[in-house]
Parts: sequence; C-alpha cells; structure tokens
Amino acid sequence: MIVKYCFLTLFILTSLLVSCHRMPGRVVVRTMGELEKAITQAQPGAVIVMANGTWQDAEILFEGKGTEQQPIALKAEQEGAVILSGQSNLRIAGEYLHVSGLVFKNGYTPTSEVIAFRKDKTHLANHCRVSHCVIDNYNPPERFESDTWVAIYGKHNTFDHNSLIGKRNRGVTLAVRLNSEKSQQNYHQVKNNYFGPRQNLGANGGETLRIGTSHYSLANSHTLVERNYFDRCNGEHEIISNKSGNNIYRDNVFYECRGTLTMRHGQHTLVENNYFFGNRKPNTGGIRVINEYQTVKNNYLYGLTGYRFRGALVVMNGVPNSPLNRYNQVVDAKIENNVLVDCDHIQLCAGSDEERSAIPTGTLLAGNLFMSNTNPRPFTIYDDVSGITFEDNIINQGVELPFDEGFEKVDYAVSENDGGIPAPASTLLDKINFSTIQTPVIKELSGARYYPREDIEVGFGTGKVIQVTPGTNTLIEAFENSNPGDVLELVGDENYVLTKDFGIDHPVSIKTPAGPPAIIQSEKTDFFRINNEGALALENLYIDGSQSPGQPGNSVVTTSKYSMNRNYKLFVKNCQVVDLDVNHSFDFLKVYQHTMADTVWIEGSTFKNVTGAILSLDREVEDLGIYNVEDVIVTNSTFEKVRGPVIHLYRGGTDESTFGPIVKAVDNRFVDCGNGKRNKTGASVKFHGVQNMLVDGCTWQNSAPLVLHLTNGEPIAIARNSEFRQTPGIVSNNDQFTTENITLSK
Ligand code: CA
Repeated sequence: MIVKYCFLTLFILTSLLVSCHRMPGRVVVRTMGELEKAITQAQPGAVIVMANGTWQDAEILFEGKGTEQQPIALKAEQEGAVILSGQSNLRIAGEYLHVSGLVFKNGYTPTSEVIAFRKDKTHLANHCRVSHCVIDNYNPPERFESDTWVAIYGKHNTFDHNSLIGKRNRGVTLAVRLNSEKSQQNYHQVKNNYFGPRQNLGANGGETLRIGTSHYSLANSHTLVERNYFDRCNGEHEIISNKSGNNIYRDNVFYECRGTLTMRHGQHTLVENNYFFGNRKPNTGGIRVINEYQTVKNNYLYGLTGYRFRGALVVMNGVPNSPLNRYNQVVDAKIENNVLVDCDHIQLCAGSDEERSAIPTGTLLAGNLFMSNTNPRPFTIYDDVSGITFEDNIINQGVELPFDEGFEKVDYAVSENDGGIPAPASTLLDKINFSTIQTPVIKELSGARYYPREDIEVGFGTGKVIQVTPGTNTLIEAFENSNPGDVLELVGDENYVLTKDFGIDHPVSIKTPAGPPAIIQSEKTDFFRINNEGALALENLYIDGSQSPGQPGNSVVTTSKYSMNRNYKLFVKNCQVVDLDVNHSFDFLKVYQHTMADTVWIEGSTFKNVTGAILSLDREVEDLGIYNVEDVIVTNSTFEKVRGPVIHLYRGGTDESTFGPIVKAVDNRFVDCGNGKRNKTGASVKFHGVQNMLVDGCTWQNSAPLVLHLTNGEPIAIARNSEFRQTPGIVSNNDQFTTENITLSK
C-alpha cells in the first residue's frame, strides 16, 4: 500500500515537474545567446528564467510586448542567486514586461545607467515592472564619473521591493526622467524599496531620488513614492529632489538621513504621512518647501538637527520671475497637522537675499504640533512672514516664538509609545486630529525580500589584536595578515622600520599600549598610504622622519594617487611626530584629488620640525564645490616649527549642496608655524569655503595668521578664547565670522 502511494506521489510530482518545464513559454537560459534568443521569441505569458550563477559583463536588452493579463517575465532561477557583475546592465523597452530577482554587484555599468526603462531615445518602457532586484555597491572606481543606477522613462512603470545599497560615485541613485512627452504624465510608482546607506559625496550630485529636472519642471509627472525606507541616505543635502508637478510622497521613512525631501521645482506636490527619524544625528533634515501649491500634512519628524536649508521644516524665499533653474516663490502652500518632536530648526523665508526676495504668499501653517525641548528658539525668520497665516498650532511652554498669534502653549508632554517612538501625549495629538504615531514601513520589510540590510562598514578596533615584533617591515607583514578592524599592537621604545611600500586597504589601528611609544621610521616617500576601502588610526606612536629619503615632497600619511570612491577616516591620537625635515615640503598628511575623508581627527599629539603642512587638504582646485574632507577635528595638540600651514582646507565655488567642510580646532598651540618661504597660503592655518568652523582655546606664537576665506552658504564661523602673540591674528576676506575673547599681544 505504502509503496503504491509512493509511486503515485512520484508520478504526480514527475508529471508536475515535466509539465512545469514544458509550460508553454517557460524557458531556462544559461548563456547570453540563449537569453537573447528567448527574449526575441517571447510571446505574452512567457517566463524567461536566468540560470543561477554569475553572469559576467551581461548587457541585457529586454524588449518585448506582453499584455496586461499576460506579461512577459524575466526572472532569476532563484531570487538573489543570479549575479550580474563586471560591466553589466539592463535595458527594458516595450510593454508589460516584468523583471525580478536579479542582483547587480562587483562591477559597474558600462553605460551611464544600470537599469534603464528604455532601449534608446525612441524605444521606451510602458507598464513595466522591476521588483525584488538589488544594486549593491555597483560603482565605477572614479568617484566623479557620473551614473544613474535606475532611470525610469516612459509611463505607468513600477519599481517596487528593490534594494539600492551603497552608491558612492556621483549621480542620482534613482531618477524619474521627463525628458520627452512620452515620459511625462507618467503615473509611475516607486514603492516598498530599501534605499540603503549612501555615503557623503562631498559635492552636488549625491541625490537618492530625483523626479524630473529643472528644464522639464513645468511638466506633470504624477509619480507616487510610497512606503520606501531611506536608510542614512547622506549623499548631499537633497535626499529627494522633486523637480516636476503632481507627485505624491506618502508613508515613507527617512532614517537618520542628512538632508531633506526638497520640493526643488514643480507644483502641486503632496507630502503626507512620512516619518523622519533624525535621532539627533548631525545635519539630519526634514521637508523643504519651494514653488506653488505644495501640501505638507500629517508628517512626523523627530530629532532633526539640521539648520538652514537642512532644517526640519524649511519654507524658502523665491526669486521674482524666477528662471527655471532658480527658486519659484512659495504660493498657497498648506502645511498642516504635522508633528515635530525635538527638531531644532524651522526656517521661514530661508535663503532670503538680494536675488531671493519673493516672500511666501497665501501660505497656511495650521494645526501643527511642535514639542521642542532641545532648542528653545526653533523658529528662524529671514524675511517678512506676512504672507504666512498661523492658525491653531500647538507648542510647548518655554519656547520663544517670533509670532503673536496662531499658537497655543501647552506643557511639554512627550514619551515613548508602544512602538518605541517619542510621541506627544494623545490629548495633544487628538487636538490636531493626528491618528496614531506608527512607522508606516519597517526596514526589515522594505526592499528585496531575500537581501540583507545590515551595515557593512567596519569601525576601528572591532577586530582582533595582533602583537607585532619590532624590526624591519614586521608592521607591513602583520598588516598583510590582518583583517578589517584589527589592531596592530607594538612594543614601546622599540624600532619599527618601513623599507617597503605600505598600502592600507582596510581599516586598521596601529598603537602602542600605555607607556612609552614605539618608534616608527620609513625609508620610503610615504610611511602609510590609505588606499580605497582603507582607514587608519594611529595611537601612542613616535613617528620620526629622519630616515626618509632626502627628496622634497615626502609624507607620513598619503592617500591613493587615484580617485577613491570610498570615504576614509584618519585618527591620530597621542602621537609625537618629529623631524619631517630631510628636505622641503614634507607633509604629515598629503591627499590627492577626488579623495574624501569623512573624518580627520588629531588629538593630544605633538608635531615638531616639519618642512611642509600637517594637514594638506587642498586638492580640489577646480572650484566646483568639491572638497577633500567633511570633518576636521584637531584638539589638545601642539605644533612647533611647522614651515607650511598646519591645516589648509579648500572648498572653492558657489555650490550650496553640501554641509561641510566642518572644522573644530580646540585647545591647540601653534609655535613658529606657517613662516616657511614656500608657504603660498601665508597662513599658519587656512580655511577656504568652510561651512562650519569653531576655533576655541588656541594659542598662536610667532606664527603666520589664521586666514579665513568665507564664501556662500551662510557659513557659521566662530573664533573665541584664543590668543595671538607676535602673530597677525585673523585675516579674512569678509566679516562673516564672529569673535569672542580674542587677544593680540606682542
Ligand atoms: Ca543637488
């Protein structure tokens, strides 16, 4: 009996398998030739299955005509097991085509788009869908070579449940294009996607999502952006750049994103029920309103710290009769029933200047609930707000308001709700008819269902400790046997000599445990070179330049000479750096063009007898708003007899898309610095184009001046509690900086 059933089951299973394989139109393909043939022959209802494995340099053109009832499918044999690598890409053209389950990684597109909803200018995709696909770190090595990962053309296309993770070069992650009539009034849907971490580009062109361009911004797009999860999308200050009409942004989550949803161009945008979790991270922003007839309602914003254009809520001034690419006046905006908890900056008439002089008109700010414990003055008004009506808003006691009416004052009442979200008391929410505070989408359920969403960035000191014996190149050998995050521990008072090239291509710490430092010398031009994917922490070391080659232009730390598409970090703690003086122009840190540090941090260190600069961060000379470092922190350190500038930081141009560079120099001593005849800056410290600067508790003696060149972007520059002895003090191109308790003495 049992045997009989088994046979019967086997028979049914076999029949199913056979029938499955013979299902009309279902074909498994293993080569590009088979794939192309299957696509050419595909009829409505066909299912083309790409066999599991790595498809190298696969340029796929999926062109065909399915029907609404019987689309043509191109799918992975197993979701996530079909890897498109090398120089691969995908173009889709035709109707009712559905692509799913593909992963792009380990390479980059040979063209300017990875997934394009078109074959060429005349053959577009309509009613097509891409779902459960992944593009993961699929970047060209050149940081400023621009590409777009997903470009949607045509009409009625859907991009859903995809994961786009780790775009590191210039160019929008996902762009909806409206560059011909056939792509306007498109009614696309972008939903349930996971937009994974995007590092700071340090320039314009790092948007995560853009719909339209200024050129076509008068056209309507009607794109719906719904239930997407934006996870630390930090490319630039526009996370989303809306540049066309009638788009809807609804039920999205923005998790610790440094930037804003910007209504840059286009009218009749609806921004509704989105959740912004800044969690007090720097430069996190919310919603920026520009143009006519925008609606912002029922959004929840928490812990956003960004200011100016990156505020939690920003209403801009416009340009009278604005050209397409500038700023239209805000007309008849409705900003209603939003909840803002501990958001630091609400900016009205932002950007007001001679050009942007058209104030918002017909605008309503009503029924919003502001709970602000972190900043007692969250509102900044840059111009005349008489065109904004304030009604029925609620705000907590203790907040200073620049308006006479339209706000009811209540006690601050915020507590974590069942979902772990800081929520105002329900009595307050009821007053503005805000339903439950609940995240509309969670990270784990966004994006491609099979693909991990964890962080891959490795920090310092997260790996194992490796003891390194003193000697020649033992340090390099130890590094070669280390893994990302490991710590190379040296023996105090002993010598470590480098006679070979030392390229660092993963994060590593090199340190001596407490006590006297180990001594490091190098016979090469550079001690350490940070390559792409590398990062370096130096702690308690004695770095001696006396054995370096007798040529000009040496350095202790340098970057790759080539473009780096991964940002790096350099930490220097409790180190003594001496005698970088075998010849002229011996720098401590020398960087190359198109490299970018997230952070350069010097703490508790001394530098003595240096013929070049300590931090030479000045290689983006083309004045395009590009720069070499986001955060420079120098604290508790002494610089003595440094012939070049101690810090030279340069960001040229008039771009307003970035947050940095940001500088903090606190409790440092500069003695005889910047006086070398080769020092073209004429400065002991020079900051050109910084956006945020704090100099505090520093002393200069017999040194060249602190030179500031402050450009656009309303930089915040503060110098205080500092002393200049036999030093010219501060030299600046304008007076856009503030000083407090600065003394000049002989
Ligand atoms: Ca931008």
